[in-house]
Amino acid sequence: MSAHRSDDTGFVPTMGAFHEGHISLMRAARREHRNVCVSLFVNPLQFGRNEDLSRYPRNEQRDFEMADEAGVDVMFVPTADEMYPQTPTTIHVHDLSERWEGESRPGHFDGVATVVAKLFNIVAPRTAYFGWKDLQQCLVIRRMVSDLNMRLDLEFLDTVREHDGLAMSSRNTYLSAEERSVAPMLHRTLTQVIERISTNLESVERSIDDGRNTLQSAGFNVEYLDLVSMSDMRQFRTEADAALIVAARLGTTRLIDNLRLFAPWQTPIS
Ligand code: AMP
Repeated sequence: MSAHRSDDTGFVPTMGAFHEGHISLMRAARREHRNVCVSLFVNPLQFGRNEDLSRYPRNEQRDFEMADEAGVDVMFVPTADEMYPQTPTTIHVHDLSERWEGESRPGHFDGVATVVAKLFNIVAPRTAYFGWKDLQQCLVIRRMVSDLNMRLDLEFLDTVREHDGLAMSSRNTYLSAEERSVAPMLHRTLTQVIERISTNLESVERSIDDGRNTLQSAGFNVEYLDLVSMSDMRQFRTEADAALIVAARLGTTRLIDNLRLFAPWQTPIS
């Protein structure tokens, strides 16, 4: 759809504090495009009033070095005043934006959709890369691009994890040593629940309840743990494509993760 573009740019929007998850997106863009652009912008519009905007981890120098090593050509690092010189026109992706993360973080996805739309218009990429780690964000952006006839392709890449299964996240640096040792439990529990559900779909509710209890006992404050359809993020009924999604707090740190029910390495329901 974007063949009219004379240039060939792969684009990775980020908020910086890079880890291997970010780098995997940059490497994919590098493999597939002549130019690679990465934006680094801690977008105030997607943070709630009581969230971590002011203490969000920042390390620009290290980020530049890592991006350079990954073969990035251009870093786009705008200021908030440049992005929002006046109260911005915003984008609201109906319905999808209101569930799960949207319920816990009102306005969050309006901020995400708005900044991503602006970045797409500024950078004019052929392809933009996002991580499945933020599954709902991927679906919101996919819906926005489709609804607004945006002329680019989207690629979504698998979650990069630490050796113990914890999904890499810039926010993991908030965890105390003790919390860090408990954190891998999130992925372990998702895996266990998915295994149980995969072998017996009847047990969805029981398996999820058990998973929630396991996490609560380990010290997590679980905001949601649920199986949802990959198309609209409504609670799973009989769709073939589903994901188990979780948001939980360890102390003051909010972690999210997800696992697909029918990912190729998992046993399909016969
Ligand atoms: P962020 O800087 O947190 O806004 O993330 C920038 C991009 O990196 C988003 O598309 C994220 O989904 C993606 N990302 C974050 N963590 C991971 C991860 N562990 N694995 C793969 N992609 C990730």
